[in-house]
Amino acid sequence: MSDTIINHYINGQVVETEPAQRQDVFNPASGKVSAQVALASPADVESAVAAAQAAFPAWADTPPLRRARVMFRFLELLNAHKDELARAITLEHGKVFTDAQGEVARGIDIVEFACGIPQLLKGDYTEQVSTGIDNWTMRQPLGVVAGVTPFNFPVMVPMWMFPVAIAAGNTFILKPSPLDPSASLLMADLLKQAGLPDGVFNVVQGDKDSVEALLDHPDVKALSFVGSTPIANLIYERGARNGKRVQALGGAKNHMVVMPDANLDKAVDALIGAAYGSAGERCMAISVAVLVGDVADKIMPALAERTQALKVKNGLELDAEMGPIVTAQAHQRITGYIEKGVQEGAELLVDGRDFDSSVTGDGNAEGFWMGGTLFDNVAPEMTIYREEIFGPVLVCVRVPDVATAIQLINDHEFGNGVSCFTESGSVAREFGRRIQVGMVGINVPIPVPMAWHGFGGWKRSLFGDTHAYGEEGVRFYTKQKSIMQRWSDSIDAGAEFVMPTAK
Ligand code: NAD
Repeated sequence: MSDTIINHYINGQVVETEPAQRQDVFNPASGKVSAQVALASPADVESAVAAAQAAFPAWADTPPLRRARVMFRFLELLNAHKDELARAITLEHGKVFTDAQGEVARGIDIVEFACGIPQLLKGDYTEQVSTGIDNWTMRQPLGVVAGVTPFNFPVMVPMWMFPVAIAAGNTFILKPSPLDPSASLLMADLLKQAGLPDGVFNVVQGDKDSVEALLDHPDVKALSFVGSTPIANLIYERGARNGKRVQALGGAKNHMVVMPDANLDKAVDALIGAAYGSAGERCMAISVAVLVGDVADKIMPALAERTQALKVKNGLELDAEMGPIVTAQAHQRITGYIEKGVQEGAELLVDGRDFDSSVTGDGNAEGFWMGGTLFDNVAPEMTIYREEIFGPVLVCVRVPDVATAIQLINDHEFGNGVSCFTESGSVAREFGRRIQVGMVGINVPIPVPMAWHGFGGWKRSLFGDTHAYGEEGVRFYTKQKSIMQRWSDSIDAGAEFVMPTAK
């Protein structure tokens, strides 16, 4: 038991809740309960929506430049407090501190983008579309919008959403993952210090029930979701049925193709970092290596050696390369997949289940530890190839040529990220054009697009029409209005019964 309670944040205040509605939060390194998080009741969701709804008219009326100035102050505060945020991430998620710093930095990129909102909201204008008539389009905010986020990026993924939504004039309700909820309150506090009016940013802690309450609430106009594919699918359907805009980003199985002409030392570095960084708990982690021709024979010994040599430690230690798994349940799910891989005939070269947690230091015996796992000779019909494991498990598939590699990837149900390592311009070009995946890296293992480009997968990795952040994000959080105008001194007398055309 812990005395620390992580509560909701509604209308500029941390809100106390009934003791029955709580769930334990763990430090994954020690396996001990570090806090309890409140789980919102329908009444809590109702009061968050009411606060956001009440704050909307004044915030939407605030000139974009003044909204941007709040974002600039938030940006300064984030930079001053970025290590505090990173530490909060490590303590509840388990990822190593340096990686958590990177997460915060990528979130800050989006805040910088949102500071440019006056330019992003600028409309289009055409004078004299007909004699004496002008026509223009502008974008206006939607109202109350919500964001439901996964455990694996408790700072960055909320920041894919709320800076753009708020800068565009909406009010926002964040429903973070109950596994690592502390960062949400730190961000709320920094927004308040930045001068954001009460009610513009709210946090409801919780899980399924609070998300369903948001999806069913008539005053919530749009919902952005990031998480696993089955939940993304449910959320997209329920939100759409209720007439909301929904963007729901789902799971992944990201492949990295290594061509025989690639720089193989760099390819091995990339595979090790992208498969085991953040213990593989990234939607852009590389979980499948597609090794073309004789590449497998050449790099497998190095991959196995490097997987065994990973520095798996408490994430607060600065030389740690990989921390623990987020929860005991996730640990169990991942070890279950390893067992399944063995049963289905894949070749287990390094078994992360053998990891000895005593090397991680004192007090960690009950932590959710495991080492990196490496499989060779994995076939496309195996469960460990088809399903998202979301842990430090790299599966290697051997293929004869690039055409087979592309076909394999295009046949997979997910299409989030992909990478191809090659020194050939023409292979790179064809790969980029033919691959059915939303985000492509050429000699870049984790091609997370920059703030102004937008993030999103294809196939069952994204339900909805727009990607997150960037100009797609601005479009998602605003609706277009067209105004056509003329003044009485140019109006001809008489009713017009024909479809108006340019005169
Ligand atoms: P999750 O789907 O379990 O949870 C995501 C969010 O949904 C959480 O806030 C959770 O409380 C809520 N939720 C859980 N069950 C729900 C239900 N039945 N109804 C409504 N809401 C529910 O995902 P997770 O384990 O937190 O995160 C890992 C997953 O997220 C992986 O599949 C990963 O690939 C994916 N992910 C995708 C992206 C992307 O951009 N595509 C980014 C990060 C993570």
